Amino acid sequence: TAPFDVNIIRRDFPILGETVNRKPLVWLDNAATTQKPRQVIDRISYFYEHENSNIHRAAHELAARATDAYEGARKKVQQFLNASSTNEIIFVRGATEAINLVAKSWGEQNLQPGDEIIVSHLEHHANIVPWQQLAGKKNLKIKVIPVDDDGQIIIDEYIKLLGPKTKLVAFTQVSNALGTVTPAAQIVKLGHLAGAKVLVDGAQSVSHMPVDVQALDADWFVFSGHKVFAPTGIGVLYGKEDLLNETQPWQGGGNMIVDVTFEQTKYHNAPGRFEAGTGNIADAVGLGAAIDYVTRIGMPAISQYEHYLLVYATELLKEVKGLQLIGTAPDKASVLSFVLDGYKTEEVGAELNKQGIAVRSGHHCAQPILRRFGLESTVRPSLAFYNTCAEVDLLVDTLHRLKK
Ligand code: PMP
Repeated sequence: TAPFDVNIIRRDFPILGETVNRKPLVWLDNAATTQKPRQVIDRISYFYEHENSNIHRAAHELAARATDAYEGARKKVQQFLNASSTNEIIFVRGATEAINLVAKSWGEQNLQPGDEIIVSHLEHHANIVPWQQLAGKKNLKIKVIPVDDDGQIIIDEYIKLLGPKTKLVAFTQVSNALGTVTPAAQIVKLGHLAGAKVLVDGAQSVSHMPVDVQALDADWFVFSGHKVFAPTGIGVLYGKEDLLNETQPWQGGGNMIVDVTFEQTKYHNAPGRFEAGTGNIADAVGLGAAIDYVTRIGMPAISQYEHYLLVYATELLKEVKGLQLIGTAPDKASVLSFVLDGYKTEEVGAELNKQGIAVRSGHHCAQPILRRFGLESTVRPSLAFYNTCAEVDLLVDTLHRLKK
């Protein structure tokens, strides 16, 4: 049985009451983005109705309210990730911007021609392209950890890639295309033993499992608010405090300085040095509300329920004739990827849409891992804690009918 009443939870998400093609919406595209609870929507409205101001600068009441709300959200993120200080939490636009920040600041400042970056075959384009751009500029080498036929990273092959030239390991905690949960703490530890820094892409993990950045021991950890029931346009870069303070900022402007003359500028320590200009204040506050929301339900409870749904969906999908599941690692988060004999993935997506079911059909911004399985595209239902077995049944029934 579920550790919470999913029908009560669903009432918090106004959009789940929508109809699509005169059918109730079934939102199974959570890996692309998640829906927002009333508590988040209301919190953003409240900000604009009662607190809106720029932060830090002016000594007036609304500036104080906005600053408290924004810094309060930073504190919630710190606790959510179990970071040791709020100084380690930098607000950015999303996971993509966080990775680019590390590439364009730390990477540009510290990597030398011939240095090596290791990524895994599972990566989202956001954790490939910035490193490739940097490698082109600085003549670095990118090495790729292979995955096995289940879609799991092969640790022995990873160990062979590590060496004195390895300066950075960047990999995902959960694959957005297959759902694989990688042995992240082990990958971090091995990277550190080789003397490398390690970045963990948590875009797909934070909404599905408890994350503890101190236990993980990553140097940087990134995620996007919109995948964890918060708005788009807000995300987080976590970094170890000393490392952040040793790194020169990538963008200059207001807010991030201690003192400016025409000759030189003295920067704030983190997080200020990496938050130039006016940030996305209201949506950061919305992210704080989303964290409160999932924390109240409990990440362990969410994880447990989603695992149950995942197992349920996996077993039923296996019974659909001609359906091939891609990504069969024993350790998975709630992403399912498949192809169906005789149908293009877009056709499957369109048929499901007729029933009100939203799934992603495509390459999921992770072309290398799909090509590892000889594919350009899969159908990808992805689950969240507000999904139900009845919704999974509808998905599977529609696929059965399609095959008849
Ligand atoms: N990494 C992974 C694993 C993702 O799934 C995504 C989003 N699909 C990203 C990075 C990039 O996130 P965003 O587009 O929100 O910046």
